[in-house]
Amino acid sequence: MIETTERPAALSDLNAQVHACRACALGSMRTRAVPGEGRIDADIMFIGEAPGYYEDQQGRPFVGAAGQFLEQLLASIGLARRDVFIVNVIKCRPPQNRDPLPDEINACSGWLTQQIGIVQPKLIVTLGRYSLARFLPGMPIGRIHGQARKVNGQWVVPMYHPAAALHQGNLRRTIEEDFRKIPGYLELAGREQQPTLAGNHQALETVPASAPEPAQMKLL
Ligand code: URA
Repeated sequence: MIETTERPAALSDLNAQVHACRACALGSMRTRAVPGEGRIDADIMFIGEAPGYYEDQQGRPFVGAAGQFLEQLLASIGLARRDVFIVNVIKCRPPQNRDPLPDEINACSGWLTQQIGIVQPKLIVTLGRYSLARFLPGMPIGRIHGQARKVNGQWVVPMYHPAAALHQGNLRRTIEEDFRKIPGYLELAGREQQPTLAGNHQALETVPASAPEPAQMKLL
């Protein structure tokens, strides 16, 4: 485990490596790599899919329309971007925003593993299907969105991608409702880390949500 004092250096070293990365073809197509950003000791890490046009231009995650919606969702639970850590599964924009290819996801995978190790979030919120597939491959988002579960010792809450929710009225309401569960999950995850309450981990393994299930769609 990385010591608190070593985290800033580890993160800036990682960012420099991402900016220099040519592990897949996207490395030579990007304008700028988008390693991710946020509070180094954030309790929550949001993981999206891949940079889009504006992210590629600015080198920052979620700065386009989906990012504005993400900021609204954060504000609805009393948080701002600076309170959380925001990353993507892949760090460079695929041409024309096409879906990431398996080779690209594999080539980028280690960066995300390192970011999680540095930030050590209490809760990971996956946004969309590529991010979900990293933690719960094959699980349908329509069935498990908004439900916190522990994956290899890490609390994960799958959510629809804000870009999909922006364009689908019913998904918008669903992601808003799912976001409202985040503070409760965070409290559970934090409480679980307290030594006095650590005896009952089993009961916290899966926390089902009660939100209704919308139809599943491709852009999730
Ligand atoms: N969509 C993503 O998944 N990530 C971004 O950074 C922007 C849009």
